[in-house]
Amino acid sequence: MKIDVILPCGGSGTRAKLGYNKLLFDLGGITVIEKTLSRFYRDDVDKIVISCSDGDLGAFTKLTQGAPIKILFAKGGRTRGESVFNALSLCDSDFVAVHDGARPFVTQKIIDDAFATAQQKGSAVACVPVTDSLRRKCDDGTSVSVDRSEYYNVQTPQVFPTQKLLQAYELAKKEGFEASDDAQIYEKYIAPAAISQGGYENVKITTANDLALAIPSGYRVGTGWDTHRLVEGRKLILAGVDIPHDKGLLGHSDADVLAHAVMDAILGAVGKRDIGVLFPDTDDSFKDADSMKLLDKVVALAKSDGYVINNLSAVILAQKPKLMGYIPAMVQNLASALGVSPDRINVAVTTTEKIGDIGREEAISASAYCSLFKRTDKDNN
Ligand code: MG
Repeated sequence: MKIDVILPCGGSGTRAKLGYNKLLFDLGGITVIEKTLSRFYRDDVDKIVISCSDGDLGAFTKLTQGAPIKILFAKGGRTRGESVFNALSLCDSDFVAVHDGARPFVTQKIIDDAFATAQQKGSAVACVPVTDSLRRKCDDGTSVSVDRSEYYNVQTPQVFPTQKLLQAYELAKKEGFEASDDAQIYEKYIAPAAISQGGYENVKITTANDLALAIPSGYRVGTGWDTHRLVEGRKLILAGVDIPHDKGLLGHSDADVLAHAVMDAILGAVGKRDIGVLFPDTDDSFKDADSMKLLDKVVALAKSDGYVINNLSAVILAQKPKLMGYIPAMVQNLASALGVSPDRINVAVTTTEKIGDIGREEAISASAYCSLFKRTDKDNN
């Protein structure tokens, strides 16, 4: 069974107090919409239709470039229902699954169960039993308790036969019937919807508070500092860029002082000591080593502990040569080593006004700060 997925993404982020669509909020190296989309990169999904406003189309198009599944765009509507209706016209698989763009923590188990239930029973609505006690308001201002075992909280995905859902939406449009989800429209015009197993982790990001809770926990910052002597007869290499100069940096490895500071910043953030411990200069295998290759190893170490790099800010202190022109290449090298986009890397350069060993062109120093997030279990399932 092939399924088309509709993601209504027309929100403006008003309740999240962002001033932009909350689906473009950065959850630590990945936006809400990218995370939601990635959950549906499955063999049984034929295509994904995103309905969004004209203003967000450019950003969404950029974020979905290179997606492993066909992505189409529909015009976002004034209401959620209008957005789904617009997207339905692009769907031609037997079944369609509608999922809130703002539910990025949906698990494969929840999707599996929704798809299987739809196949067996004709439709599926992911639900979870209500956990809070429920009360019903009375006219006189008092309230009475309600048996919560009869009630569910409704989530997405919600899966229906494509043609039947389209038919229901056409009827709803004719009658001006508006609903907060697709199951309401389906049951009014077609049939009651079957329940599939949702999950309490499948939260919908709605308010600013939800966004704060959705950011990965375990935020870390590390710092690194390094100095190497400038001597004749050596290459000057900074972040893997070979810079023409009459002197170069002296060291056991290629003496890439910037790469060394960056490695120590990452190791410091994740609590793994420093490069002197990891790559001792008494070990001949590190003689003349390409420090950018060592940086790859450090990044892999941080990633194996579940960290993703958020940003890097580095400063090079050098009297000479002028380094400004080489910064874009350094940023590019560091971005690819750290696996982040170049806009998360900043390399600044400064002289020391001819003061001290750096000012006398006897040395070059570099400092670096790196911040990382730790991925949580809810991100990985
Ligand atoms: Mg060093």
